[in-house]
Amino acid sequence: MILIVGQAPSRSSDSPLAFSGGPNQRKLEELLGLSAGELHLRFRCVNLLSSWPGWRGGDGGSLPSRGLYGWYDGRGRIVVDVKRARAPTKKPGFSWTYPGYKADLTPLGVAAHEAGHHVYSQMYRRIDKRAWRDVLKREAPCTRYEPNMSEAFAEAFKLFLTNPDLLRVGRPLRWEFFTKRLKLKPVRDLSWRAVLRRAHPKFIAAAESWIARGR
Ligand SMILES: [Zn+2]
Repeated sequence: MILIVGQAPSRSSDSPLAFSGGPNQRKLEELLGLSAGELHLRFRCVNLLSSWPGWRGGDGGSLPSRGLYGWYDGRGRIVVDVKRARAPTKKPGFSWTYPGYKADLTPLGVAAHEAGHHVYSQMYRRIDKRAWRDVLKREAPCTRYEPNMSEAFAEAFKLFLTNPDLLRVGRPLRWEFFTKRLKLKPVRDLSWRAVLRRAHPKFIAAAESWIARGR
């Protein structure tokens, strides 16, 4: 039995049957040389997600990226636009993105940032907003993208997941907020240099000056 895997049902239907009735069913039938309606007789079709993950957008054949690298739907699901996400930068210059570095638009970094939104929403009541705002006031930014408290949380949490030691030495107030106030535990136990061991030396130099700015 051949299984055809789709992404998600469309915004308006939560049909458990993938590729049912929409333009994608017809397109697949054309590509496979089938007559109309034959797709589901010949193939098993399932979706990765059981319902539409966003608030708006097109059909389930292209998940709604809303022009973002990823987003959190507020219900425990993270969508990463892998096509839009970047590959790790080999030699920094124009682009500076690397997994475990503070600027990280790789799928890992995007997913970790969105996980930060998930944690922020799950722990919302326990997060002392005044104390968090105070941390943001007293400490240098973690990254350039901190337009509000929730994004600042997601950016710091990204590092907490991908390179906790870098957050610990570079932005210690954020680190303390996560580990002491929120009692979160890092999942990695490696030095930040070990995490970045395959990165171009420019990343190491930039991380060092980023750490110095946080002091
Ligand atoms: Zn965000």
